[in-house]
Amino acid sequence: MKILPQIRAVSRICTSIISSYLIRKIICRQKPCLDALKQFNIAIISDIDNNNYIVGGQAEVFQSVELLYQYDFRRFNRVKNEIRFIFIRNTGPAACYIARGRICILNIHFMDLNASEMARQIACAGILVHEATHLHIEHLGVLYFGANIDRIEFICDCEEKRCVEKLKTGLSLKA
Ligand SMILES: [Zn+2]
Repeated sequence: MKILPQIRAVSRICTSIISSYLIRKIICRQKPCLDALKQFNIAIISDIDNNNYIVGGQAEVFQSVELLYQYDFRRFNRVKNEIRFIFIRNTGPAACYIARGRICILNIHFMDLNASEMARQIACAGILVHEATHLHIEHLGVLYFGANIDRIEFICDCEEKRCVEKLKTGLSLKA
């Protein structure tokens, strides 16, 4: 247990270095989706890889946030309050977050490209809720550490599933 504060300090330094690097990269190189910035104050940014290929996906992620706004307002508010930057990449883990800087990183390949556009948007909204729930828990001061990890993942998975069900129900009622 003695080592815990040191690990915490090191991980804080690492995440602040990564988030300041990402924010600098975001501001210098990429333009955020203007609609998302205006409507929700969330910067949705698509990465540019080493071959100058723009990863894309900004419109789709924006539509996912709109779906949340229309059909799951409570979780939309969590996403809006917890996430300031959504950074779309084509490498790395499916999704992750950096608490400092309120950054959510999505891997575009994680969304099943064979699925319909609506199914992809619903899945993406679920992922955003999952990551926003992580950020919310972290900001409440609960560490993502040891025995907490499984419990936190369980809570975030439940929120993701409930959101997906709610969006599906909302959309089917509309149709
Ligand atoms: Zn998770």
